[in-house]
Amino acid sequence: MRERLFSLISKYNLKASSDLGQNFLVVPDIIERNVERAGLNKDDTVLEVGPGLGVLTDALSKRAGKVYAIEKDPRLVEILRKEYDWPNVEIIEGDALRVEFPEFNKIVSNLPYQISSPITFRFLRYEFERAVLIYQLEFAQRMVAEPGDKNYSRLSLMVRAKAYAELVERIGRGAFWPRPKVDSAVVVLEPKPKDERIELNEDLVRALFQHRRSTVLAALKKSHHMLGLDKDEFKRARDVLSTMPHAKKRVFQLTPMEVKDIEEFLVAEKILG
Ligand code: SAM
Repeated sequence: MRERLFSLISKYNLKASSDLGQNFLVVPDIIERNVERAGLNKDDTVLEVGPGLGVLTDALSKRAGKVYAIEKDPRLVEILRKEYDWPNVEIIEGDALRVEFPEFNKIVSNLPYQISSPITFRFLRYEFERAVLIYQLEFAQRMVAEPGDKNYSRLSLMVRAKAYAELVERIGRGAFWPRPKVDSAVVVLEPKPKDERIELNEDLVRALFQHRRSTVLAALKKSHHMLGLDKDEFKRARDVLSTMPHAKKRVFQLTPMEVKDIEEFLVAEKILG
């Protein structure tokens, strides 16, 4: 696998693009473990974002019924189409943040780190069973952080509102070519059952987490413009807001359900639309 990767790189004189997060996996065991974690069989349709030179795609094609691989770099799309003859893989050329997703039930990807946040939020808008994803280590740690943790963030809260996320393996930078400046980690993501998912007002979450160490009341005061309130309107609402649930709690300690309580209070008081 490693030999094949490097022979393709030299055959096509490929310069990896750092703008596109091109760090190719060169350790077969990691690929194997991730394919294992996805628990694939021939009934599965897998979505892969960023197949690169096809090392993970190749392993996926052997286990899944169908693989859709979305690749933005036309150079790589051309190489993949020339060099592989997978009967069950469809390469989609385009930006994974924009192209229409085909139907799928699993996701396995070594993601380009530049799009970690928007692609994760996009995945969470779809119904799927499991995703096995490689992220930059710090991002992965934020994804799985718990309320009160030092790195609990807007991302942690939004992921927690919709899915179970577990960091299952750290990966050193030597597992990639070219070697990135940061370590990575594998996260397994499973959407929660529909009746346990919490839909949150994203403007409110943004307004709160802009000041994650403040109390809820202080954070909303500082971010009042993000809720569409001017200073005077906020002053008039202050008495009411001080009776809001969790008003004295620090933002980084809030669970998704507590943010929902705040949202419902603000809607009932006609402060939020
Ligand atoms: N899967 C390969 C591997 O593990 O060796 C490559 C992974 S590399 C970290 C990320 C891949 O995503 C690159 O092939 C890059 O060209 C592609 N990519 C970057 N931005 C993308 C986007 N917005 N949509 C689709 N693919 C993208």
